[in-house]
Amino acid sequence: MATVPRIPRVSYVSPVTRVPRVRRISPSDPPLEPLEESDVKDVEAGSSQAVVPESVENPALVIPIPQGINQGLHSAKSATLIQILGVPRDHMDQECRPVTNDPLLSLVETRNVGPFRVTGVKPALDSLQSVFAQVKASLPTVYVSLGTTGMLCARLKRNNSGICNHAWGTAIDIKINGMRDALGSTADGGVTLAGLAAIAPIFRAEGWYWGVEFGNFEDGMHFEVAEETIRLWQEKGLFGDGVKARGAAPPALSQGDEGAEVRSLQEALAARGYDLRNDGQFGPLTRAAVLDFQAAHGLTADGIAGSETLKALNLG
Ligand SMILES: [Zn+2]
Repeated sequence: MATVPRIPRVSYVSPVTRVPRVRRISPSDPPLEPLEESDVKDVEAGSSQAVVPESVENPALVIPIPQGINQGLHSAKSATLIQILGVPRDHMDQECRPVTNDPLLSLVETRNVGPFRVTGVKPALDSLQSVFAQVKASLPTVYVSLGTTGMLCARLKRNNSGICNHAWGTAIDIKINGMRDALGSTADGGVTLAGLAAIAPIFRAEGWYWGVEFGNFEDGMHFEVAEETIRLWQEKGLFGDGVKARGAAPPALSQGDEGAEVRSLQEALAARGYDLRNDGQFGPLTRAAVLDFQAAHGLTADGIAGSETLKALNLG
């Protein structure tokens, strides 16, 4: 079974004063809720040592994205989340809708995780309490700047290409001083907010993947429980015995997945003549190419790149 690999030290680029350009700052959201003490519970998952900067004077400063933060972690795959936590609800569209289906439903809770209250799946909330306790202790100026635009939200991705990982309550979007670090392209090298860059190593050590490395775009406010961590938590029974009994998820890429592995899949398909944009987003066109490839190679044509399909593409 997959475990979260130990990462000796995450290299961290200290926030510098270079300000490439100010961008995508949305109007201020309502003021943050008053801070409260949270009862902090340690979570074992992740557990590599976080390397955080000594202090961050201005968490809202725009800085280059530090490299290598996600080393060893990947965005959680739809097939894995469905196998482990089930389909969140039967009908989903672009609207944020409540979760209706077990086993996920009985694992959802609203809780104060330190800087704010949020609704998510229980082990992820435990982990967030640990993350924010560390932020409070080591980065007080960042801690007081933290806000959220939400965690649990059962909907499809914006381009309708699959289920959004927020639908399982394993992802959270974080604001700094009420500002969002919105979607941006990595083509220009990529920038983010200093406060997000500062907390990223703490999230990494707890087994969370930072959205700055999705395909060819970055989602700097997005942190999600990584594929490796979801599998580890299931194995350890953190989602409960019922979920543990659902068994291991197959290694598979399907519609809605994103990141480096999807990019490799698209490259392999393009090399076989499929007209695909190498954007790291497993959308309807990628699915169509997978279906066609499967049909042409005598594989089960289900549009899911499982172990057989990946092997046939020399990716397995
Ligand atoms: Zn998000």
